[in-house]
Amino acid sequence: MKIGIMGGTFDPIHLGHLATAEAVRESFSLDEILFIPAARPPHKLGKLVTDEKHRLAMTILATRSNKFFKVSDMELKRTGLSYTLDTINELHKIFGSSTELFFIIGADSLADLFKWHAAKELVAKCHFIATTRQGVDVDFSAVEKFFGAAAREHIHRVTTPGLEISSTDLREKIRLGRSIKYLVPEAVEEYILKEKLYDD
Ligand code: ATP
Ligand code: MG
Repeated sequence: MKIGIMGGTFDPIHLGHLATAEAVRESFSLDEILFIPAARPPHKLGKLVTDEKHRLAMTILATRSNKFFKVSDMELKRTGLSYTLDTINELHKIFGSSTELFFIIGADSLADLFKWHAAKELVAKCHFIATTRQGVDVDFSAVEKFFGAAAREHIHRVTTPGLEISSTDLREKIRLGRSIKYLVPEAVEEYILKEKLYDD
């Protein structure tokens, strides 16, 4: 089994996340993509994050029309900070050691990977797929220098269709009363309106 992991705060989940996950699934022949909403990402500690029940509900709504997409609440159920290493260890326990895990990250996050908790152990235990937009260049030599041989075997780069959508922009649009149509799945738009999220 080859499983892709899409982690994020998904506040809210948008078509950028979904299109990227689908493109990666196809190009790496993954059996499924697991969307894992993050509880308290260490790099977003100071920021306000929407209640996890809403972020989980939107992630489920957004992914339900794709039979290869699954959602896990494992990080939400865990107490303390969300560390990817804990998630990878837990997934290896669930799926067994013969299952290969592919963690999907944006190219911008690749440049910061060396700062992640237990970064080298993490790169030894799972694959990373860094999604690059056309024309966006990442300095891979710095990544290789830090991670050594493991980088060549376990860190992959792929060009995905660039959708210039971010959750930050979506929250701002909603706050200003502007349309988010065609940027999030319809069911997510309806959920946001029904629950009056992001409009204060
Ligand atoms: P925020 O603006 O709140 O930081 P975001 O849109 O960046 O939200 P996250 O939940 O932080 O979304 O992102 C989860 C993952 O999805 C990250 O690896 C991020 O790089 C990636 N990602 C976010 N937006 C896009 C996009 N438009 N295209 C491809 N990947 C994306
Ligand atoms: Mg982000």
